[in-house]
Amino acid sequence: MPSNLERAKAVIDSRRENAELVAEKKRFELETVSPELKEINYRISRSGLDALKAIGAGSNGVNLIEQLAKQSLELQTKRTEILASLGLPADTLDVHYTCPVCEDTGVKDGHYCECLKALVKQFQFENLCSCAPAKDSTFANFTLDYYEGDARPRMEQIYNYCKNWAADFDKTSNSILMCGQTGLGKTHLSLAIANAVVAKGYNVIYSSAGNLLSKLEKEKFGRLKSDESPEDAVLSCDLLILDDLGTEFVTEFVRAAIYNIVNTRILSGLPTIINTNLLYDEIADKYDKRVYSRIIGDYTPLEFLGEDIRQIKA
Ligand SMILES: [Zn+2]
Repeated sequence: MPSNLERAKAVIDSRRENAELVAEKKRFELETVSPELKEINYRISRSGLDALKAIGAGSNGVNLIEQLAKQSLELQTKRTEILASLGLPADTLDVHYTCPVCEDTGVKDGHYCECLKALVKQFQFENLCSCAPAKDSTFANFTLDYYEGDARPRMEQIYNYCKNWAADFDKTSNSILMCGQTGLGKTHLSLAIANAVVAKGYNVIYSSAGNLLSKLEKEKFGRLKSDESPEDAVLSCDLLILDDLGTEFVTEFVRAAIYNIVNTRILSGLPTIINTNLLYDEIADKYDKRVYSRIIGDYTPLEFLGEDIRQIKA
């Protein structure tokens, strides 16, 4: 499987090739309509070649280069006039890149361009995101209508808390423990957070605990070949969201991995969101006692209330 970086480079290459193809096609079409334009395009490319030759000729070429530069400018002006006479803007024949900064090469001044980094992040997010409807779960389509009685004001408070938390997110944000029964909107709200934080340009990993831990276990035993270690990504991403903690099969590996993730991210000061149906003492029983005390000591608890939304909808 190609790495996220390789995938991102391939996307950027095809963007560039496509942009150049579109420009080439446009030029061909217009030259068919206007022989005058074809002539001037030919002279512009000739003058470019002449300039290259003149540069190769060294100091004797200086005057010639100046002359060619002047000529080239005149030709460009002439071309703009021809395009205007066809009712077309001056940049019609330019290549329109998706990223004008790096002209779809992925590199700017010897460094990876932001457009490439953004793609890598996006792939990282998609790879580790175990839930398909990520894009469908937003703050805008979360409804409080399903909550009644005491649940309603509590959930309104939680909704506002999550929305503000996402809006104010940075790498020093606090961690959150979302608890409560199944079907109360924990997954929806944490996906809404993930979407909002990704949109701010942060690196987010969202995964069910079971899925993530089995990926880590495969990596540990060398069955997963990749030049990016999922464990590094999990420990160092800007925001980690672990959905459904407690539904995975708990082994010694899982116990150690959960402790490592929780502990390392607290020590690095990086925010984590954990969703669970477990009660506090179940967390203490199921995992390393230190996981429990870390979470209780460091995470802001949000206790969801209400009736199972999926059952109400059904
Ligand atoms: Zn770029």
